[in-house]
Amino acid sequence: RQVLNCFKHNILLFLLVLSLVVGIGMGAGLRNVTPSFTSRQIMYLRFPGDLLLNMLKLLILPLVVSSLISGLAALDTRTSGKMGLRAVVYYLTTTILAVVLGIILTVTIRPGERGGDIDKAGGTKVVNPADTFLDLLRQAFPDNIVEACFSKPLTEQKLIEDDPLFTNITDGLQRNKTNETIVDYEPSVTKVAGMNVLGLVVFSIFFGITIGNMGPRGRPLVVFFESLCEAIMKLVRLVIWYSPIGVCFLVAAKVVEMDDMEKTFNQLLFFIVTVLSGLAIHGLLILPLIYLVTVRRNPVRFVYGVMQAIVTALVTSSSSATLPVTMKCLEENNGIDRRVTKFVTPVGATINMDGTALYEAVAVLFIGQVRGYNMDIGQIITISVTATAAAIGAAGVPQAGLVSMVIVLTAVGFPTDDVTTMLAVDWLLDRFRTAVNVLGDAIGAGVVAHLSRKELEAASRTDDIDEVSVS
Ligand code: ASP
Repeated sequence: RQVLNCFKHNILLFLLVLSLVVGIGMGAGLRNVTPSFTSRQIMYLRFPGDLLLNMLKLLILPLVVSSLISGLAALDTRTSGKMGLRAVVYYLTTTILAVVLGIILTVTIRPGERGGDIDKAGGTKVVNPADTFLDLLRQAFPDNIVEACFSKPLTEQKLIEDDPLFTNITDGLQRNKTNETIVDYEPSVTKVAGMNVLGLVVFSIFFGITIGNMGPRGRPLVVFFESLCEAIMKLVRLVIWYSPIGVCFLVAAKVVEMDDMEKTFNQLLFFIVTVLSGLAIHGLLILPLIYLVTVRRNPVRFVYGVMQAIVTALVTSSSSATLPVTMKCLEENNGIDRRVTKFVTPVGATINMDGTALYEAVAVLFIGQVRGYNMDIGQIITISVTATAAAIGAAGVPQAGLVSMVIVLTAVGFPTDDVTTMLAVDWLLDRFRTAVNVLGDAIGAGVVAHLSRKELEAASRTDDIDEVSVS
């Protein structure tokens, strides 16, 4: 009976893991049958998975907006202010810890001096880091909210339009995709980075606080967004039931299209090992430890509760697309207060990226080592600061970290073209850093919920009193 109960409780996770295994098996089997597949065949195989990606992406916009607005409207300004501050402190601390860890590992393992190889033809381009920060702010305060729902993030837009550099990277990504023979069917990078989520997050936060403070006159809007949020979460549940099917086909298609990567893997082996060990230490040790110390509860249980989100992150390589699953896991499996998940998780999925920050620090130092540059402490500090900023600015979409790495490279005056070196292995590393990004968001929600429990309890009591006096 207990076994049956446990199975019932974890059935979705069980199905998801099963679909991963079946997907890998199916892909490997298909590769054995036919050694090479056309892009059309791969597109057909991926198709059920593409539907899953579409459904998840479709939910991002209404979910981010409705959950932030209704979440903030439900909190009084003091509580939301305190919660926001705690979240920001947590985000910054963990991101900086990740960067420092990345730097320590790269300096110790020295992957760039162990047969790492890059095409050294790239030229240097110096961009003023201050401009990057201004761009980030411009992105946070868009001039047109409707356009923000479908326009490209400003930094990338600017890079594409004015900067041959970005065109190079986009070409590189496209080249990479051509090698993988899926170029016709996967949305282009710029299209994937379609929404200015940061702008929407900032707008929704202010809008939510404002209507929450308007009293009875703001009520209709609050009720509207609350009900929208509830409806979207119901849709999320539906999509999650479909996810095992989508995951299975996405994984199978990836296994089929993985062509001869052995050479690149050997060349970049130590780089991959450094990134993966950094991500493992951060995700399996540092973050759970932070949870244990602040919340004083079993972190293994907590991580197990969000496992479904972690698997989704591994498969989709996108924190934003995983957001609906993260919120559902936190609320339903880990019992995190909805007022916290609605506020903290969308913000976290947009700006809190520990895995990306670690990856950027390692990658930039690796490039420096391969090129034999002597990096002084000033440059290492610049790398830490800009890697943190670049991770905050990166959108929660696949390979965003690779694009925002240009910021770090230019800040230390390294050749930006070297980014293309990482393309060959980015599809793999992206998955793992996204998983760490999502885990960081989830643990952040757990920590903030715990630290804010008193305010939340007090707010619930006031709400109860209000309701009684109304009735
Ligand atoms: N794919 C990552 C995410 O969505 C961002 C990155 O490329 O590092 O979190």
